[in-house]
Amino acid sequence: MATKVKVMIIEDEDAISNFIAMTLKANDYAPLLAKTASEALSMIPSHCPDLILLDLGLPDMDGMEILKKIREWSATPVIIVSARGEEADKVEALDFGADDYICKPFGTSELLARIRTALRHSMKNAGTAAASDIFTTKGLRIDFSKRQVTIDGREVHLTQIEFKIVSLLAKSAGQVLTYDFIITELWGPYAVKDNQILRVNMANIRRKLEKNPGSPEYIFTEVGIGYRMVDDGI
Ligand code: CA
Repeated sequence: MATKVKVMIIEDEDAISNFIAMTLKANDYAPLLAKTASEALSMIPSHCPDLILLDLGLPDMDGMEILKKIREWSATPVIIVSARGEEADKVEALDFGADDYICKPFGTSELLARIRTALRHSMKNAGTAAASDIFTTKGLRIDFSKRQVTIDGREVHLTQIEFKIVSLLAKSAGQVLTYDFIITELWGPYAVKDNQILRVNMANIRRKLEKNPGSPEYIFTEVGIGYRMVDDGI
């Protein structure tokens, strides 16, 4: 029998925890439950979960603190499970090394898609799958080495910066990248964190890529957080 993928759920609310555990079991994952941060921290080294779902509001420790502790010694993908309207927390968590976040209440298909994406990225990072030179989704095709972007076979002309933004998002398709992360990747760590430059570039990118820039099908805005490229799995 193949070993099931172990997903740890760090969540103090039984209803949510049980709902996630049931969903995971039904989809052939092995859930591990921890109700508190201290329980989770003692379980992680012995159980070695493949992925962690972390609720930011835990009774014994701030979610951000537990994320920092996990990141001190583990690269296990972490998906933040948070209540709506906590944008600042989500940005902070992503910048502290969380792989993604999902807002309560969420549907099972969204949860499973986020898990698949995070697992796929962690396998890529571990070198088990070679990073592809070509990205395709819904008619969009990006050839990273040729620096060529086409939509339904028609070439799209992007500026250098626009191409870099699109490539960066495509290489992490399905995952949200924060404004600060994108700015740092493009302009370096000392760049002024001015989201306006990014917004202007994104408006131009959408005008070139999207059929209807007002309701994009390739690059989504995560309000107050950043951007996410569509992923086939979502
Ligand atoms: Ca909670």
